[in-house]
Amino acid sequence: MSKIILTGDRPTGRLHIGHYVGSLRRRVELQNSGDFDEIYIMVADAQALTDNFDNPEKVRENIMEVALDYLSAGIDPDKTSILIQSQIPELTELTFYYEDLVTVARLQRNPTVKTELGMRGFGDSIPVGFFTYPISQAADITAFKATTVPAGEDQEPMVEQTREIVRKFNSVYNCDVLVEPSILLPQNQASMRLPGTDGKEKMSKSLGNCIYLSDPAGDVKKKVMSMYTDPDHLRVEDPGKLEGNTVFTYLDAFCKDEYFAEYAPDYANLDEMKAHYKKGGLGDVKVKKFLNNVLQETLEPIRTRRAEFEKDIPYVYDVLKKGTEKAEAKAAATLSEVKKAMRIDYFEDQEWLDSQIRKFETRQ
Ligand code: ATP
Ligand code: MG
Repeated sequence: MSKIILTGDRPTGRLHIGHYVGSLRRRVELQNSGDFDEIYIMVADAQALTDNFDNPEKVRENIMEVALDYLSAGIDPDKTSILIQSQIPELTELTFYYEDLVTVARLQRNPTVKTELGMRGFGDSIPVGFFTYPISQAADITAFKATTVPAGEDQEPMVEQTREIVRKFNSVYNCDVLVEPSILLPQNQASMRLPGTDGKEKMSKSLGNCIYLSDPAGDVKKKVMSMYTDPDHLRVEDPGKLEGNTVFTYLDAFCKDEYFAEYAPDYANLDEMKAHYKKGGLGDVKVKKFLNNVLQETLEPIRTRRAEFEKDIPYVYDVLKKGTEKAEAKAAATLSEVKKAMRIDYFEDQEWLDSQIRKFETRQ
């Protein structure tokens, strides 16, 4: 069976370092591994509209920003199709049919939907489209027959729901048209769900607690220096706590041993630095300066590439257009198999016409 990747991001803002460690970094590695037959990365504008329907300009403006983030992080359009969700009507059509296979109760139990509904404060005015977006995500994943979805922990319930839809579809329509995907979570715990600079549970565009991939070096430094640490670590000599200490969580996600020789030669690795912090005698400012250097190491090459791509927006436009065209061809092929399995392929099926002719002939 072919190995196929589908992932994506909502164009609700530029991409941040949570996206990077949660999914983007891995996508680039997988892309370059050569282990996959097809790779699709989706700018999920239709999904972004489910909770931003009254702010279409925000979504429209961020399409190009997200595409620039992809290219500058190392996504290569020769190996990966970058597509815009709303431009592929087949995805909407699949969503409509999958809606028959999912109950309201099942959607209400989806833990990510529950959290996000709370965060957005819809109260009694939950848009139906937002509530059902896991079904649309199932359409996105299955349209490309994806086997692998590299994503952060918050996407686990979505992929599980997709697997259920696939099983139900294949069993109800007695076929093997759809493929069950699996999620590929980040390798380390800190990257599963990177907290915000304010220490809140998740860095998220909607919460405004982000370090963006495209932030200038000075902004990154400013954000790092004002980050949340251990509120009880008042004097340098006090013992510090690592749990819930966002600066150390970021180091867990980004730090490599080789950075110590250059930026913190007193320590051989992160474990030694952590031990010193816990014992007391290591100040927050010193750790933050180290984190800033570590982040700049990762972000500087991305920023430099971005500056180059920003000079050639028509090229980026072309990448999006070609990627979307290629993706639509694949989605259309899947949709036609789906419609055949669902017995709604009347005009492609001569047998249907013949059977109807026979049926009405016998009535005469
Ligand atoms: P929004 O607030 O609009 O939902 P977001 O910041 O949550 O935006 P998404 O576009 O919903 O970003 O997520 C895209 C991908 O990035 C998903 O795979 C998700 O798991 C991953 N991701 C997003 N935020 C984080 C994070 N803080 N840590 C790890 N992965 C993340
Ligand atoms: Mg999100």
